[in-house]
Amino acid sequence: MSPVKSKIKSKLRKGVKRIKTVLHGSCAVLLYHRVTTLESDPQLLSVSPANFNAQLKWLKEEYNVLTVEQFSHCLLNKKRFPKNSVLITFDDGYADNLLEALPVLEKHKIQALFYIATATLNTSNEYWWDAVERILLLTKKDEKKYRELLPTLRSMNAKDRDKLILQWAQELGSTGGRETHRALTFYELKKLSKSPSAVVGAHTHGHPSLAALSYSEQMDEINTSVSTLEGLLAKQITHFSFPFGTANDFNSNTIKVCKELGLKLVAANIADLANKKSNPLCFPRFIVRDWKVDEFEKNLQGFFK
Ligand SMILES: [Zn+2]
Repeated sequence: MSPVKSKIKSKLRKGVKRIKTVLHGSCAVLLYHRVTTLESDPQLLSVSPANFNAQLKWLKEEYNVLTVEQFSHCLLNKKRFPKNSVLITFDDGYADNLLEALPVLEKHKIQALFYIATATLNTSNEYWWDAVERILLLTKKDEKKYRELLPTLRSMNAKDRDKLILQWAQELGSTGGRETHRALTFYELKKLSKSPSAVVGAHTHGHPSLAALSYSEQMDEINTSVSTLEGLLAKQITHFSFPFGTANDFNSNTIKVCKELGLKLVAANIADLANKKSNPLCFPRFIVRDWKVDEFEKNLQGFFK
């Protein structure tokens, strides 16, 4: 395509998006993972407590930060989102979600939806990508192997993947998870779920890329996380997010399993605004990095353009 044609096409696409935003209302669902300060963060998962505080303060002033209930109501009943709507979500279930993120959320009276991968809960094990970082990047100092192996590990089933990672850990004497990278304990998760600033959803058991698994493996992964959380918290779990969440990380079987398990709202990790026409079983989200408030402002304004 000629540069002129592609420029016109991109302008048209932006125009259509703007019209949709006005007609259907829209909500930027923000995806966080961790609120803490780390020495090494190769996956850029962490936002510093100071930046998180500044981001929320600014959101509270300029945006309509929805509760999970308000968000669910709009999406499930195909109602227009209020102007400049935002929803905060967290993936994975790191201990810092309770220890560092929750106090900031409570201070600003903002609610977030926390999606929890259950296999790591209440253990001293690290999430598998952190264990691989510890073994290959920090102990073995083999950045090339680290970057090469991540995609392969992502598409394996959790049992085979964890066996392999444990084997590397033992070979290199790099066992034992870092306290800075631990997941919530059961006690901490219960405490989190009792806060008015938190709603808990599921995020599979072993955090695989679901699209690489068979229907029954997907069912097992999702069902285990939902039933573990329901058992621990004594409440029904209706929220779920796909691990990794890009268009390559889930398929029609994943959505079928979610429906069968009675999940009502399911989040992907595809950068777009949600509106009343979005599919509640795979709505988009924008990932947030460790941005200072001016960069956060600029990026957020970009999300709504
Ligand atoms: Zn995740």
